[in-house]
Amino acid sequence: MPGAADQGASTAPGEGILRRQAQRESAVRTYARSLPIVPVRARGLTIEGADGRRYLDCLSGAGTLALGHNHPVVLEAIRGVLDSGAPLHVLDLATPVKDAFTTELFTNLPAELAADARIQFCGPAGTDAVEAALKLVRTATGRSGLLAFTGAYHGMTAGALDVSGGAPDVRATRLPYPQDYRCPFGVGGRAGAELSARWTESLLDDPKSGVAAPAGMIVEPVQGEGGVHPSPDAWLRRMREITAARGIPLIADEVQTGVGRTGAFWGVDHAGVVPDVMVLSKAIGGSLPLAVIVYRAELDRWAPGAHAGTFRGNQLAMAAGTATLAYVRENGLAARAESLGARMLASLRGLIPAHPCVGDVRGRGLMLGVELIDPDTGEAAPALAVAVRQACLDRGLIVEVGGRHSGVVRLLPPLTLTDEQAAAVLDRLADAIPAALRR
Ligand code: PMP
Repeated sequence: MPGAADQGASTAPGEGILRRQAQRESAVRTYARSLPIVPVRARGLTIEGADGRRYLDCLSGAGTLALGHNHPVVLEAIRGVLDSGAPLHVLDLATPVKDAFTTELFTNLPAELAADARIQFCGPAGTDAVEAALKLVRTATGRSGLLAFTGAYHGMTAGALDVSGGAPDVRATRLPYPQDYRCPFGVGGRAGAELSARWTESLLDDPKSGVAAPAGMIVEPVQGEGGVHPSPDAWLRRMREITAARGIPLIADEVQTGVGRTGAFWGVDHAGVVPDVMVLSKAIGGSLPLAVIVYRAELDRWAPGAHAGTFRGNQLAMAAGTATLAYVRENGLAARAESLGARMLASLRGLIPAHPCVGDVRGRGLMLGVELIDPDTGEAAPALAVAVRQACLDRGLIVEVGGRHSGVVRLLPPLTLTDEQAAAVLDRLADAIPAALRR
């Protein structure tokens, strides 16, 4: 449906909106640049633009939409709150909606954590929950330094940037995240992960390493923005052992990996690791803004108001989140993500022999990445990745570009993806790569 301002205009529906957006919105707008779409309707995997074009959405609100757009159970939950007359703004007061959300979330947590967990409702973005987690462990340990990983992404607020890969900070010690492809130690696989673990251990145990005892270690079970790098299970267990043995709280940032995305309910579940703190956002709000941390009760030593915020009581998001968590659990969508993701990964790997520009394909569950390279040099090919994203868009497929050198085409489809939809997504992507090369 065209906006009122476009009606009667000679331009295509939505063009006026896009033009005004470009004039009025800030230079830092992101997705709006690469996806010049004016979405007016959406259902499941599909978004419809104002111009009537339909797209298969494998960006899913940057990995937020576990059930795709406007899933019936999510809409029903939201309508239920609206029709009940419940207040929509309640600060951090107790409500039946919040109580139900917390119960459902605790049902899905690793049992050992759920048995004695506390939850903090944060401001509604993942980055605020990261801030809360860092503050929590700093308060509980009385220490300030942090351990974080190369390639990490934890958000855009100051503390989250400190522990992300892009910004150097004296308070965060950067450790090598294991990578098979472009392994920093040049060996990859198990050996590369082992060297990364040893480096971590030696920094902590060498009295002259220059690294003071830290307040915590923050890790993504699969690095998403960093280019889709799943951490090896054995390595994550080593991180757990290393931190536990030295009294260092382990923070798992599950903002992107949570709620079935990687083929287990939580990314840490693959390794059987129970962190001390979990940072959760994106899918837990069922497409609406919600962010929390859950953590071991013994860390709960911060003062009332130490991490406050006006918008910590989004009732619609809690209801949508409860419905989403329950649907993923009841319908075994984590297992579905694992099996379908494995098949999609295998199919994407099939692109490598015919396309020397596809350097690597990797992922876990429905978090998939295709790294594009210059076949002559082996270097990342960000311009080609952008061209592939555009060629996908031309074919009605929305994908994301990420990775350390912005050379990775990323897929984050909803966990409700059908086999037929997966085949359509793969066909369009396979078609887009040679088309992008021809440009
Ligand atoms: N942590 C991870 C692992 C993320 O992927 C993101 C967002 N991509 C964030 C934190 C930040 O979340 P938000 O954008 O909601 O602040």
